[in-house]
Amino acid sequence: MTRRVLIAGFKHETNTFSKLPTDLAAYRARALHRGAEVPGAYRDTRTEIAAFIDACERHGWTPVYGPAGDATPSGPVTREAFETLTDEIIAAAQSEAVSAMLLQLHGAMVAEHADDGEGALLEAIRARFGRTLPIAVTLDLHANVTDKMADLADIIVSYRTYPHTDMYETGTRAADLLARQLDGAVRPRVTVRRGAMLDAVDHGRTTAPGPMTEMLARAAAFEAEPGILSISINAGFPWADIADAGPSVVVVADGEEAAARAADIAQTLIDEIWQTRHRKSIETLDVETALARLATVAPGPGPVVLADYADNPGGGGYGDSPRLLGGLIAAGIENAAFATMYDPEAAAICHRAGEGAEVSLALGGKMDPAFGAPLEVCGTVQRLTDGRLTFDGPMAKGVHIDMGPSAVLRVGGIDTVIASGRFQVYDQQFFRHAGIDPASRAVLGVKSAHHFRAAFGPIARASLVVDSGAGLTSANFKALPFRKVRRPIYPLDLD
Ligand SMILES: [Zn+2]
Repeated sequence: MTRRVLIAGFKHETNTFSKLPTDLAAYRARALHRGAEVPGAYRDTRTEIAAFIDACERHGWTPVYGPAGDATPSGPVTREAFETLTDEIIAAAQSEAVSAMLLQLHGAMVAEHADDGEGALLEAIRARFGRTLPIAVTLDLHANVTDKMADLADIIVSYRTYPHTDMYETGTRAADLLARQLDGAVRPRVTVRRGAMLDAVDHGRTTAPGPMTEMLARAAAFEAEPGILSISINAGFPWADIADAGPSVVVVADGEEAAARAADIAQTLIDEIWQTRHRKSIETLDVETALARLATVAPGPGPVVLADYADNPGGGGYGDSPRLLGGLIAAGIENAAFATMYDPEAAAICHRAGEGAEVSLALGGKMDPAFGAPLEVCGTVQRLTDGRLTFDGPMAKGVHIDMGPSAVLRVGGIDTVIASGRFQVYDQQFFRHAGIDPASRAVLGVKSAHHFRAAFGPIARASLVVDSGAGLTSANFKALPFRKVRRPIYPLDLD
């Protein structure tokens, strides 16, 4: 009889400073597939779930599909959304009497009623199925890994790239380790260590040699030791005001005999991560400095990309702060495009006016006045779209999203994609689906902190990272009202 293995996903990166609740509608707005819909949505994509599906074929398992949910980073997950997805995962596993679980999680979920979302999920699963059901978990490297998660999962493995281009490979590593556990070849145990840091290891960037690439090389050397099955370096997610936020090292070791060695390795690596805390592979600029720098970039083919670091929807930013776009408009930048401004009202105005119409509207600045007032703009509606697109870049290739009614508004020399949904711009399709060829523009603005480099790096003449301070993902942590994170901690108290 073949083994039945549950495949499910419940992802969220919760920015606890956001006032936007993450409810079931927020999951439906990005991705919420159930049962038989799951393989249709993910097979042949560059995702963990696709890797789980392929692993079932490779290992001769029968896949059992629970829900697969993902919501754009925002505020705490509502109790209703948490309990609905948790109950559906448990019900799917129970109805099919599964032998093991493969869970695609993020690792930085905070729910209204539980600061440690993934810990609470695993606790609910263990309460129903006991401690012996093998459970393998994949995480984003921006996970805040708690002791409870380490205690309750058998296997935890994280991405090793930022931009995250190894989602599929991470799923494969988790599934293949689970196969060894199911065969009785290994008895995985998870150990985690955190330090007195909210942010370090260059936030996990792997686009240039630096702290993260060095730590991954160190981890690979330790992974070669007998009994050490997997080591993950997590940069953590600092915009979560919970006790255990920040970088961590996760070691999966074989049996109790290797546990002491695993703890030694985890402690050694987290101590080394402490040493990396000041080193960054990128420079962040304020808007004025970025515009001055833009003027000095040598001419040539390809766009100069300006990344709106402080208002990145991929980290919980509202995606409607107008500060960078306003700076570009005021500077009279020509042959430019910007994606995306989250503003359903403005998108609706454009749709009512129609392509070719002149409109005056207030753009962005509606979620939080502290991040800038709406931009009063007059422009031409260049294009209307339904906001549906399929990623074709290096991140999550093949995944389909629906931003809702969207429009391209030309103001001066800048074509701005206005969307009805919040998404980080990490794929060229955010422009191309709207008829904009990003490679032909002189300047691009993107609501993204770092992921944009995967798709736009190859066409960019230069990239400038702009931290305007106006947004929920600014690196100015000291401006945020932390109350729950363990203290003292770098950089809030310690240096
Ligand atoms: Zn991440």
